[in-house]
Amino acid sequence: MIWDVLIVGGGPAGYTAALYAAGAGLHTVLLEKLGPGGQMAGSGAIANYPGLPGVDGAALAERMRVQAEAAGAETRYEEVTSLALRGTPKTAHTRQAEYAAHTVILCTGAAPRPLGLPEETALRGRGVSYCAACDGGLYRGRAVAVVGGGNTAAAEALYLAGLCREVTLIHRRGALRADARCTRALEAAPNVGFLWNTRVTALLYTETLAGLKLQNTVTGARSTLAVAGLFVAVGRAPQSALAAGQLAMDGAGYLLAGEDCRTALPGVFAAGDVRAKPLRQIVTAAADGAMAARAAQEYIAAL
Ligand SMILES: Cc1cc2nc3c(=O)[nH]c(=O)nc-3n(C[C@H](O)[C@H](O)[C@H](O)COP(=O)(O)OP(=O)(O)OC[C@H]3O[C@@H](n4cnc5c(N)ncnc54)[C@H](O)[C@@H]3O)c2cc1C
Repeated sequence: MIWDVLIVGGGPAGYTAALYAAGAGLHTVLLEKLGPGGQMAGSGAIANYPGLPGVDGAALAERMRVQAEAAGAETRYEEVTSLALRGTPKTAHTRQAEYAAHTVILCTGAAPRPLGLPEETALRGRGVSYCAACDGGLYRGRAVAVVGGGNTAAAEALYLAGLCREVTLIHRRGALRADARCTRALEAAPNVGFLWNTRVTALLYTETLAGLKLQNTVTGARSTLAVAGLFVAVGRAPQSALAAGQLAMDGAGYLLAGEDCRTALPGVFAAGDVRAKPLRQIVTAAADGAMAARAAQEYIAAL
């Protein structure tokens, strides 16, 4: 069986593409490795989605899924492990099955960038986290650290300050890059401390995280900090590895595609945070999903 549209990723880009493609009568399948919503599902209250101020990200994700499936799209919870994008039809492999489709829309989004420390992956869920809204509750009343210096790090630290006994913000530079409002709120929080010009060099742990080894980037002085949780907020990386060697990427690994989401390969589209573009938000991911579905529809009509 050949699907009209195969969508990889069930964030706002993927589910909007599914809504528009299925709504246009195209036989549409969406493959998602975790659950609906992508980054949006773990973002807590969303202040800037038009018409729904303060909507919970997980609730919005569920509504997008239900709406796309009501339009006729199918979701399969499977991780795509490889894609062959040049042939006709295009194929996707998961551990469970092989899929063939006339068009593929890549909506794989972005994921938090790790620090790259030994045992960082092994300690995920046992002290290391990339999402305060998802995991902050596990560290209620305890001491935690946040690494990073941008808006995400500042927002994570502020959120944790409301739950944790003590929050230490660790930044490799001497000042935050976060906006002034966030910075002022952090400086006013009585349980937030700052370690400037500092990087984490190692994780201390037994079964779970117990502390951090630190080094001052200016003086070279070494120290340790006892914490139960480490929240890493040092940026995000595109999840574009599936397309390596098949689609052009920019220097950071984002997929190159036009505003209509067409890539250089006919029948292959990139939508949402995985696409090289200036603004990565829910509303722009949803807009990309709609554009990609429309472009896929035009491609199929010309077959
Ligand atoms: C903490 C946080 C707060 C945020 N707050 C806001 C906000 O307030 N307002 C706003 O507009 N934006 C916010 N954003 C950004 C917003 O969430 C993203 O721009 C948006 O989710 C991008 O949507 P997407 O569909 O492109 O990708 P994603 O949301 O990243 O979804 C990609 C999906 O693809 C899946 N996937 C990846 N690889 C595979 C594979 N191989 N097989 C199957 N599935 C795969 C992933 O599991 C994921 O579900 C926030 C982000 C974060 C992290």
